[in-house]
Amino acid sequence: MLLEKKRILLIISGGIAAYKSLELIRLIKKAGGEVRCILTQGGSQFVTPLSVSSLSGETCYMDLWSLTDESEMGHIRLSREADLVIVAPASADIMAKMANGLANDLATTALLATDKPVMIAPAMNPAMWDNPATKANVKTLIDRGIIVLHPSSGDMACGETGEGRMIEASEIFTSILNFFQDERPLSSKHAIVTSGPTYESIDPVRFIGNRSSGKQGHAIACALRDAGANVTLITGPTALPDPINVNIVKVESAKEMMTAVETALPANLIVCAAAVADYGVITHSKKQKKSDGPLKINFIENPDILEIVSNHKKRPNLVIGFAAETEKLIENARTKLIKKGCDAIIANTVGTAESPVFGEDKTSIYWITQTEEKSYAHLQKKEVATILTNKIINILNKKNES
Ligand code: C5P
Repeated sequence: MLLEKKRILLIISGGIAAYKSLELIRLIKKAGGEVRCILTQGGSQFVTPLSVSSLSGETCYMDLWSLTDESEMGHIRLSREADLVIVAPASADIMAKMANGLANDLATTALLATDKPVMIAPAMNPAMWDNPATKANVKTLIDRGIIVLHPSSGDMACGETGEGRMIEASEIFTSILNFFQDERPLSSKHAIVTSGPTYESIDPVRFIGNRSSGKQGHAIACALRDAGANVTLITGPTALPDPINVNIVKVESAKEMMTAVETALPANLIVCAAAVADYGVITHSKKQKKSDGPLKINFIENPDILEIVSNHKKRPNLVIGFAAETEKLIENARTKLIKKGCDAIIANTVGTAESPVFGEDKTSIYWITQTEEKSYAHLQKKEVATILTNKIINILNKKNES
């Protein structure tokens, strides 16, 4: 049984997504876990204590001032006799209380008193999720080590569309399993991944960009996360949803990406999958008009992030780059490996009719190191991410042995 002997305290706060938490209780129980529940006043507007206690097989705790509950269990014991505390759904209100240390009901008191890891699955209207107050609270909670299961995008019960839907019960359940599998190969490792394109501003309205979709970099971030790594994903503008349980830093220009990478160091490994513009632009402060005459663009060389990190005083143990080439693939990739000083290059051909790569789900790659050269053809980018993650695990293991 996957969750045998694992004790989970599930706090159900007020939100329509509370119905998904009933399914979560069922999944935890089915996997052999024990689940005790606290239902807030708000939560009880959406699901009943009877459903909660019937599914969990335990008392449904609701009231801080209940004499019977306090004498039999007590809010301190409730919060300590768990291996993991989960708040699902986590409303904007309970997150604000957690961020500020309020304790005016059973749920918030248990959260303030607990000495156990806490995981939250936010659920709210997109405008509430996007509100700077909520954003600041989320940041505070993440900084304090709380695991935030990022909400998904889609149609909301309130009729609006956007980010704020609580992820599905099955996804929360997977996060719980991952949490307990601390033997995962990359647990305690910090991985930085750069992804997507960079935009170099010409003037306040125009930019020069490239066709990178970010699919490969994002897939690598997810594969490393699933192997247990603490991942910082530094991404240029993409249309992709933010992966959950990954620290995301959004940037536009190559210079911003460089700063974000340096801020994220130290790390055990970095994968530079972003298509970084080699040249930035000296930005015009005002929008350029046709009446100003021919558009003048002055280019300046951008920092080469891969090369700088490869030679950095905080150099990660493992530095991996990409080489997208239109010709002489292997030769150019080998030159890049040496010039930039990284440990491995993943090379692929781009821009040809047979191998467009940008924006596609499939790709063919070469894995190139000083001593290796291996080809992998017609793979999903997710498969490339898994192959790469396995290579990373092997290399780091070997480095540890030597
Ligand atoms: O030199 P080229 O752009 O082909 O190198 C590609 C590799 O270098 C990729 O891993 C890319 O992320 C990285 N790179 C970088 N900073 C740059 C240019 C490329 O990190 N300014």
